[in-house]
Amino acid sequence: MRFHVITIFPESFDSYLNESIIGRAIKEKKISVKFYNPRDFIKAPKNNYRPVDDKPYGGGPGMVMRAEPILKAVESALRKITNYELRIKKSKVLIINFIPSAEKFTTASAKTFSKKYSDIILICGRYEGIDARVDKILKTKKFSIGDYVLTGGELPAMVLIDSISRQIPGVLGKYESLEEERVSTSEVYTRPEILKYPFGKAQGKKIKNYKVPKVLLSGNHKLIEEWKKENK
Ligand code: SAM
Repeated sequence: MRFHVITIFPESFDSYLNESIIGRAIKEKKISVKFYNPRDFIKAPKNNYRPVDDKPYGGGPGMVMRAEPILKAVESALRKITNYELRIKKSKVLIINFIPSAEKFTTASAKTFSKKYSDIILICGRYEGIDARVDKILKTKKFSIGDYVLTGGELPAMVLIDSISRQIPGVLGKYESLEEERVSTSEVYTRPEILKYPFGKAQGKKIKNYKVPKVLLSGNHKLIEEWKKENK
């Protein structure tokens, strides 16, 4: 799976993509993430200031990201994709734009996309969003990651990269560790068996013992699975 991110803030991805499971997946070439900065697709005027945004038609606060630099950045990503595979089918490439009020992205979408597409282009909006003609021209699929408004599409892009990547066989340590493949619970425990809290001298406060539920220590897999189902 190759991700192509259209963003004016590519550095904001660095720390997340270099760490842990996603960092390892990139090193092992199970996924790749390339960046295309719309600022690089604007001819610089004499004063060297390259605007990617402009005032909205119809008035209103804030600025709107201009269509041309975004379209040129996406065209560049599409060229790169055909360089990878000359006869790549159009149906294997998905272009996503993020809109806070759009359909919610889910694990079901992540599963489908991980199987269906070879390349996903993620367009990260900023300011008041992107000129709507980009969606019309590129026929983007629009997604929201939740009922809140963020300052940009970079976090949503990272969310999609993470959730789609973990569906790719071999990205997680064990394929079975996918939450959906097993009875999973949000109530998880590790050592010690009894946690004493508060720590040290509790200044008059009673120290309590917080114990791991007995069933998890029982070794009885049937009972443990039943407990997990009840404690989802
Ligand atoms: N004026 C826009 C509106 O009312 O829909 C809000 C734009 S928001 C401040 C800037 C950008 O952040 C959006 O273009 C989108 O890329 C991203 N964004 C913000 N919240 C998001 C969410 N919940 N899900 C996905 N993307 C989001």
